Amino acid sequence: MGTCVEVCLVAVFKLIELKEHPETLKAVAAKMEECIFCMKCVPVCSEQAINVKKD
Ligand code: SF4
Repeated sequence: MGTCVEVCLVAVFKLIELKEHPETLKAVAAKMEECIFCMKCVPVCSEQAINVKKD
């Protein structure tokens, strides 16, 4: 978990605590405007939850 945070060169993602489960961290795209569309985050997501589009 959080591999997208590690691979993103421009720090788009940040980890947040889930309110219901504070021991669990979830990655969210907090600064999507910084994305350079390198696509490194897409294949490393174990949940296949990342979909990057330029539009
Ligand atoms: S596609 Fe965007 S969000 Fe994903 S790793 Fe590259 S810069 Fe970061």
